[in-house]
Amino acid sequence: MTQALTPGSAIGILGGGQLGRMLALAAARLGLEAHVYCPDPESPAFDVCARATIAPYEDEAALADFAEKVDVVTYEFENVPAHTASILAAHGLVRPGPEALATCQDRLVEKEFLELNGIATAPWARVDDAGALARAVAKIGRRSILKTRRFGYDGKGQVMLREGSDLAVTFRTLGGLPAILEAVVPFEKEVSVVAARGADGTFAPYDVCENVHDNHILKLTRAPARLDAAAAAEAVRMARVIADALDYVGVLAVEMFAVAEGERVRLLVNEIAPRVHNSGHWTLDGALTSQFEQHIRAIAGWPLGATRRHGSTVEMQNLIGDEIHAYHEILREPGACLHIYGKREARPGRKMGHVTRIAYDRDP
Ligand code: AMP
Repeated sequence: MTQALTPGSAIGILGGGQLGRMLALAAARLGLEAHVYCPDPESPAFDVCARATIAPYEDEAALADFAEKVDVVTYEFENVPAHTASILAAHGLVRPGPEALATCQDRLVEKEFLELNGIATAPWARVDDAGALARAVAKIGRRSILKTRRFGYDGKGQVMLREGSDLAVTFRTLGGLPAILEAVVPFEKEVSVVAARGADGTFAPYDVCENVHDNHILKLTRAPARLDAAAAAEAVRMARVIADALDYVGVLAVEMFAVAEGERVRLLVNEIAPRVHNSGHWTLDGALTSQFEQHIRAIAGWPLGATRRHGSTVEMQNLIGDEIHAYHEILREPGACLHIYGKREARPGRKMGHVTRIAYDRDP
């Protein structure tokens, strides 16, 4: 039985970054109150939410109080400590559920889950110590990347192996933490499927999009991806298998490598993000329902919205660090849709905002 919220209900959001901020705005638009929980008093989501809790993720009393005040809890990042998630789950509804979190916050568990569900990934091996790294290199080869199992993002917690690099030193570079070794994939492009699964199991994918990273940070997203129809359909099928297997409720993103194999394209899943995703920001201006609204609808137990794209192509460019200072030129640009996240300081590598540009085949 689907538990549907009513307008005026409170949505608890763990994490106060730009994703939490855009979720809070979407909740407000639908007449729901966003209550953001984040340890950092400077969090951009605090500017736009109805209620706020500033407390550490380990503060059991604050978590319990927060959970009591909201009707559903969601999160904007997958590294929610397991203990935090279980305290919240004990008080009520957490969406997406704890299983999705547990699967997606550990690269080893995620790879095993994908394998079990027949979804292809890059060749990989488990690495728990320097000896295991040597064995993994013998199996996978030197063209590989060592990634910590947990807490990696935007290229953090990863190191590329080099010819002749000392494996014991490499293992220590990542703090000697449990890791996996993954073969370097000679991909043609990186694509992602952002999709929602409703509380009743309905599945609503957006167009597959293609992503360009610079220094491990997303730089550009283009929707739709330049993929043939069969490959695009296969990408969506894979995302659906994943969402169904996790009994997922909410928006998720599945990042994939597209590898050319003769005339065909082979898709390998890189990772699953159990949350709204940067490669879905184009939907704010470029689709009938944004990924943020869609996530709120899903976790509220409401019907999902249409995911149809506006225009022939939509491009989203992240504004990273100092790039945000170009806001005035972007504001002057006809048709550019600017989003500024309200972060006080433009540090290098920090996502400060984004701009969306919609192209039309002919003038509307
Ligand atoms: P990740 O943190 O796993 O999403 O990796 C960040 C980025 O590093 C990806 O989006 C790719 O651009 C690159 N990358 C990660 N793993 C691989 C791989 N196995 N082969 C090639 N590039 C990779």
